Amino acid sequence: MTRRALLAFMTARVRPPITVRVNAMFDAGAHGNKGLTDAERATFWRYQTQAQQEFATSGIRFEFKITEGAFIRTQGYSVIPEKFLARDMINLFVSDFLGYDVDRDRTGGASIGPRGYDRYFKTYIGLQHATERTLPHEYSHHLSLDTATNPTLGHNFWADLRNDYWLWRQRQGAAIDEFRRCAKSPWAATSLQTRLPRAASIGI
Ligand SMILES: [Zn+2]
Repeated sequence: MTRRALLAFMTARVRPPITVRVNAMFDAGAHGNKGLTDAERATFWRYQTQAQQEFATSGIRFEFKITEGAFIRTQGYSVIPEKFLARDMINLFVSDFLGYDVDRDRTGGASIGPRGYDRYFKTYIGLQHATERTLPHEYSHHLSLDTATNPTLGHNFWADLRNDYWLWRQRQGAAIDEFRRCAKSPWAATSLQTRLPRAASIGI
C-alpha cells in the first residue's frame, strides 16, 4: 500500500463520509440554444472526476442530479430561473462562457451563497476559461463555508490562497478537516453506516 493510499484509508476510517448533493445544470442557452456539446460535457465530467478524487481524500463524496433545460436569463445581470434551482443542493451551472457580472476575473468559476431573497448556493463554471483546478477550487468555497459566512465573496484573495493551500495538501494525500465544516450544510449529509473496517484488521 502506498503512503498516499494508506493515508486515504486511515482518513476514511476515522471520518464518516460526507455526501455533498449537487444539482448540475448544463446551459441549454449555449451555442444559440443548442446547448453544450458532447465534448464540453465530457470536459466537465473530467473536471468532476478530478474533484471527486481530490475530495475523497477528506472523506467527501458527491451525489449528482442532472437538471436539463436550465439557462441564464440576462437582464442587466445573470440569473438562473428559480424553477431549475434546489435549496438542498449546490446548484452547479455549467456553461461555455460566463457573463462578466458572474466571472469578472475570467477564472472560469464563481461561487455564491444565499443572500437576501436568493436562498440558493451556486457555482458557475465557464468551460472556456476553467482548468482542472477550477472546479475543486469552487467546491472548496462551499465546503469550507466561505459562501455561507460571506455569500458574495466571489474570489477573495486570502480565502483563495488559503483554500488553494488546503487543496494542494489534499492532493498530497492529507485529509483536510476544514473542508468537512460543511457537514451540517443543507446540501450535505453524513453517513455512519459506510465506515471502512478498523485499521487493526489490516495490520497497520
Ligand atoms: Zn475563489
